[in-house]
Amino acid sequence: AKAAGRGTWRVFAAEMEAEVQARLAIELDLREAMGRGELELFYQPQIDLLSGRLVGCEALMRWRHPERGLVPPSRFIPIAEDLGLITAMGQWALHRACADAAQWEDGVKVAVNLSPVQFTTGDVVLVVSEALRHSGLAPYRLELEITESVLLQDNPATLRTLQDLRALGVRIALDDFGTGYSSLSYLRHYPFDKIKIDRSFVSEIETRPDCAAIVDSIAILARTLGMTTTAEGVETEEQLRLVTLAGCTEGQGYYFGRPLPLNEMTLLHHPGNNA
Ligand code: C2E
Ligand code: CA
Ligand code: CA
Ligand code: CA
Repeated sequence: AKAAGRGTWRVFAAEMEAEVQARLAIELDLREAMGRGELELFYQPQIDLLSGRLVGCEALMRWRHPERGLVPPSRFIPIAEDLGLITAMGQWALHRACADAAQWEDGVKVAVNLSPVQFTTGDVVLVVSEALRHSGLAPYRLELEITESVLLQDNPATLRTLQDLRALGVRIALDDFGTGYSSLSYLRHYPFDKIKIDRSFVSEIETRPDCAAIVDSIAILARTLGMTTTAEGVETEEQLRLVTLAGCTEGQGYYFGRPLPLNEMTLLHHPGNNA
């Protein structure tokens, strides 16, 4: 048993070693990725639930690595945040997304994710206003998605930054709502336009009454506070029916469309297409 235990430990240690090596390799490559033009934005449609119309697209970052292929954000965003690379990557994403959206059908918005790190390093208000100026995009068509972890820092500067961003005319969405440390007081103190209800509630809305009740409550609360709601991760027709019934204003998820490279987003090039 002892020998087996030591053997297990050796296997474990080897696995950890391999993981450390893999991360180091990613770190080295990530430092070069932006300069080599390996970062891309995919776009996922956001649909108005009442009319069924496309109202916006969320920009989701991808890394097209020459050997690893398409790397998902879960594999490189946390590393980029640790290394401080996310500030420059986020600035690139804002400029790219605004420039892309400026070409879209009038009124279609673009949503861009902001890392909490972008709030503590670099001047996010300046970066956003420059992205708007360079692209000529009307400010109301840019929506910034932030998570509760930004608010957790409980820094008075955060509130001012959010107010300054909103003064530019851009919209602010609270992402992944219901996960983490959701505090209702955030909704009172911070100027959000939209709450995005986390996919974990939507994916179980058919089978778990508690999830259905939570979605209902968030939609009602948001409406009372004058905010809109997006149901994230809608994958089935029944989920669509239930989030619509709950009073969510927008839906996003594989049911409507997966994130795609810009040139595959045919919907955006056919303003007359209501399909
Ligand atoms: P998020 O902001 O919550 O983005 C939604 C994620 O859910 C995306 O994953 C999207 O592909 C996925 N998704 C959408 N609909 C469905 C569905 O119906 N079913 C399922 N199973 N998944 C769905 P993705 O693209 O892998 O991004 C993961 C996370 O990485 C994002 O979560 C966001 O937190 C972060 N991220 C992505 N792009 C950026 C970026 O440009 N900047 C920053 N700071 N973070 C980003
Ligand atoms: Ca998001
Ligand atoms: Ca989300
Ligand atoms: Ca998320």
